[in-house]
Amino acid sequence: MELRLKHLVIIGTGLIGGSLALALRKADAVKRVTGVGRSAANLETARKRGIIDASSQDIADAVSDADMVVLAVPMGAYAGVLEAMADTLPEGVVVTDAGSTKCSAIAAVKASRVDEHRFVPAHPIAGTEASGAEAAFAELFQDRLCILTPDDETDRGALARVEAMWQQAGAQLMQMSAVEHDEVLAAVSHLPHLAAFALVNTVRHAGEAGRHDPFCFAAGGFRDFTRIASSSPEMWRDIALNNRHALLDQIRAFQAELSRLEAAIAGSDSEQLLAEFKAAKAARDAWLAEYGGDA
Ligand code: NAD
Repeated sequence: MELRLKHLVIIGTGLIGGSLALALRKADAVKRVTGVGRSAANLETARKRGIIDASSQDIADAVSDADMVVLAVPMGAYAGVLEAMADTLPEGVVVTDAGSTKCSAIAAVKASRVDEHRFVPAHPIAGTEASGAEAAFAELFQDRLCILTPDDETDRGALARVEAMWQQAGAQLMQMSAVEHDEVLAAVSHLPHLAAFALVNTVRHAGEAGRHDPFCFAAGGFRDFTRIASSSPEMWRDIALNNRHALLDQIRAFQAELSRLEAAIAGSDSEQLLAEFKAAKAARDAWLAEYGGDA
């Protein structure tokens, strides 16, 4: 479906919302973009960079003549944003999102006065550790997966428009249930972020206790493992709390893996250690070979 949006309203004009606007502009798939956000300085950056045509800090006013509204705010902001737009959303407008946890996004819409049938939940599997409009770039979604989690109640016309929008932004589409999405993303995205935050804090505490600053000796391995610990703390707090059950399962699974390694090291079980490391290396090498390191 060839799509040309008349008025796209992006609520949360940061890395994801800004990159989507830039990609759609580049594809000539949108006529006018309004960016909504909390920070006047960030919106001014977005305007200067040509991401948006106009900005607003008034959600109700901004959405009143939209034909597509995209929520690209942290998960914890959904309830307030949905409430603010409920009275002025035009009939037939499509509402979608880019949030990292889908069950909570759907629950927030169901608890709001926004029509759940016209809400199409989406999650582009692309990002960086940087935040804000300054970090946005048009190629972010190029050839990357975007997972849609509609259900039987989702309006098919709204779904087709959201699919066309992400395709024009360069993404490859995939559908699954919100529950499946949250389980799989807990494993491959949410747990790694938690592990990176925890690892940096472990080293930080070691530094407080020891004579040397351990960060002074940290090199490539530490940099690779911890890159994502530079991500937005607010966003990751919200993701952790909004995918609590699936993430707790993954934390327990990770603790069990660490305990197995701990027991092997404590028992000088070289065979067990080697087997664990070989299995992990084989799985990672296969991932790189099959997917090039990307989903
Ligand atoms: P970001 O911090 O770059 O942008 C979020 C923007 O939302 C900011 O400009 C902030 O000022 C604004 N905002 C926050 N609360 C608001 C509110 N109540 N009303 C209006 N604006 C508000 O974050 P991002 O990386 O663009 O993430 C946006 C969403 O996309 C999040 O839900 C995140 O989980 C999801 N996501 C992020 C990534 C990633 O790697 N960064 C990838 C896929 C999906």
